[in-house]
Amino acid sequence: MDERLIKRLIATIKCGTCGQNYQEDHVEIVEHDDDVWFLNVFCSCCQVKSLVAAVIKREKDLEAVNDLTGAEVSRFQHIDAVNGNDMLDMRDFLRSFDGDFSGLFSNKES
Ligand SMILES: [Zn+2]
Repeated sequence: MDERLIKRLIATIKCGTCGQNYQEDHVEIVEHDDDVWFLNVFCSCCQVKSLVAAVIKREKDLEAVNDLTGAEVSRFQHIDAVNGNDMLDMRDFLRSFDGDFSGLFSNKES
């Protein structure tokens, strides 16, 4: 997918800290693997940097978005939304993360 389009899409997201939209110029693509994109975003308003993970599917793949089993649908419907503790866990993870996304993805078969 076109990187410019991805940046434009991410620029529609609001900063979690101050609520301002990100700007395309402050979106940096870190890595992507098929539909999964990792992006560094920088909020010019409050100067906060964040790592965004996004699953972005092309229109012809939309069918797959709904390709969940009944059990999966009910599982995802009833899990809690991301909360402050999740963010703290992610912060701890990122502190020790060495940036090896390839290794991260190749070891997640469990
Ligand atoms: Zn901000």
